[in-house]
Amino acid sequence: MTTEFRQPAKKALGQHFLHERHIIDKMLLAIDPRPGDRFVEIGPGQGALTFPLLDRHGALTAIEYDRDLLEPLTAAAKAHGELTLVHSDVMDVDFTALADGAPFRLVGNLPYNLSSPILFHALDHAAVIRDMHFMLQKEVVDRMAAGPGSKVYGRLSVMLQAYCKVTSLFKVPPGAFRPPPKVDSAVVRLVPRPPGEVGIVDPRHFADVVRAAFGQRRKTLRNALSSVCDAEQITAAGIDPQSRAEQLAVSEFVRLANETVER
Ligand code: SAM
Repeated sequence: MTTEFRQPAKKALGQHFLHERHIIDKMLLAIDPRPGDRFVEIGPGQGALTFPLLDRHGALTAIEYDRDLLEPLTAAAKAHGELTLVHSDVMDVDFTALADGAPFRLVGNLPYNLSSPILFHALDHAAVIRDMHFMLQKEVVDRMAAGPGSKVYGRLSVMLQAYCKVTSLFKVPPGAFRPPPKVDSAVVRLVPRPPGEVGIVDPRHFADVVRAAFGQRRKTLRNALSSVCDAEQITAAGIDPQSRAEQLAVSEFVRLANETVER
């Protein structure tokens, strides 16, 4: 079946096709498909993850931007299960509409050039996503999962961890892909927190606070946040205005944003 995928990988679409069987098995083990689950895959490519998932689960929806992959994917999928292929840029897909009231599990070996936009897009639709398992550049996964005090703790860490439990699962070497990327990869799990647990009063203000705090991460919060709130408000939130963004726990960012929101 794979002989039908004749075209060379397209660099502009971040095409690095996974071929290491034991990495695919490890991903499936981490995903642990259960009866009744609904799966949506981003970027099925040549079906490295799609076909084993179909073998295990019977059906899934996949979103692929590369028109040239649609026909061979559809043909090859027939031997594995029921593949619903959506030809679209994933950034144009309204996950909430796609869910149509039935939350799904999102998986994908993502195009690395679009990692952050896809992650933020998924966050916007977290209410219909049960969990996510993504292959990403390892450096990005490290940033996603980092905690206060870490050099790589930043906006991505706080924004994702405020809304999801983030777990870095395992590292994947470049040789697992054809063609091999220049960087190490890693698989990460994100589980959206229930809205009551998130506790953010105004998501837009929260995002502004986090962006401002890390926009000038070497500055004290008092200076970095001058456009969003004053030192008195920071103190009222129980936070030292002389501290820096990289020292603040995610829960402190939530408290700071909630205390300084205009009501
Ligand atoms: N899942 C396959 C695998 O593991 O071998 C392919 C992974 S490859 C890293 C990324 C895939 O995402 C490619 O198939 C690529 O065509 C697709 N892709 C790139 N940009 C996309 C976009 N904006 N929307 C949907 N799919 C995209």
